[in-house]
Amino acid sequence: MLEANALRYRIGTKLLLDNFNLSVNPGDFVALIGPNGAGKSTALRLLGGELQPESGAITLDGEPLVELSPTQLARKRACFQQNPSVDYPFTVREIADLGRQPHRLGRFESPHDRRVVDQSLTAAGIIHLEGRLQTTLSGGEATRAHLARVLAQEPRLLLLDEPTNHLDIHYQQEILQVCQQRRKEGCAIIAVLHDLNLASRFADQLVLLHEGRTAAQGTPEEVLTSERIHDVYGIESVVWKHPCGCPWVVPLLDSHPIETPEALPLAAAH
Ligand code: ADP
Ligand code: MG
Repeated sequence: MLEANALRYRIGTKLLLDNFNLSVNPGDFVALIGPNGAGKSTALRLLGGELQPESGAITLDGEPLVELSPTQLARKRACFQQNPSVDYPFTVREIADLGRQPHRLGRFESPHDRRVVDQSLTAAGIIHLEGRLQTTLSGGEATRAHLARVLAQEPRLLLLDEPTNHLDIHYQQEILQVCQQRRKEGCAIIAVLHDLNLASRFADQLVLLHEGRTAAQGTPEEVLTSERIHDVYGIESVVWKHPCGCPWVVPLLDSHPIETPEALPLAAAH
């Protein structure tokens, strides 16, 4: 459904992204990972049509992204920005309802719109705060209100920039499980995630960016090796196998070698 070929993006003389390639099908979950400043948000904004590449091409359902009108685009894909905020005193329900605008185009709210907003607020775990003003929300609550907005948009492609920011461990899992549910319904997800273990657990394709270039791309098993993590993040780590079968990255706080099998029960005992 989404194809990006050889994307390049530059600001002045600074190359933010070079030779970025991605192919996404319905139901895929792609995680963009990499250190701060690697170009993850830039890549996501290009894929969402918010930025135009200097060179390269993006198609969505076979059509060049640049040829879609803002409304056509908003009916197909939804974007969750890093640290979203609305400076107006909107209620949580009004924020979620913004997601219905591309479908409504001026008509009054239908029972379907109302049902979708209710379901999105429930899925994001924020329905109990539907009447609260956004200006009074905690960081995690604001994150969930904006997640409800992008869910209410009923997109076929969901672009999420650090959606687990400000969320406690319960809601981190919850939100990614909501994404899993959307995948089963055919929605493709592209998410910037900092937590390598959440990326490993939930995504089927990882793109590891480093200094604007793709350092590795493939399954979590292919991408998450201690050598690569050292090359890109400059830290020592061991990669174990999570009980669910996916790679599990354990950073080493100093360069003490760990005897992997013995260390596991020790860590579990605490
Ligand atoms: P990431 O999301 O991986 O942390 P970004 O895509 O936001 O990284 O940014 C990539 C790099 O581009 C960073 O070094 C950032 O400082 C730089 N950058 C982003 N926007 C601009 C801009 N408007 N002018 C100059 N540099 C920018
Ligand atoms: Mg970013």
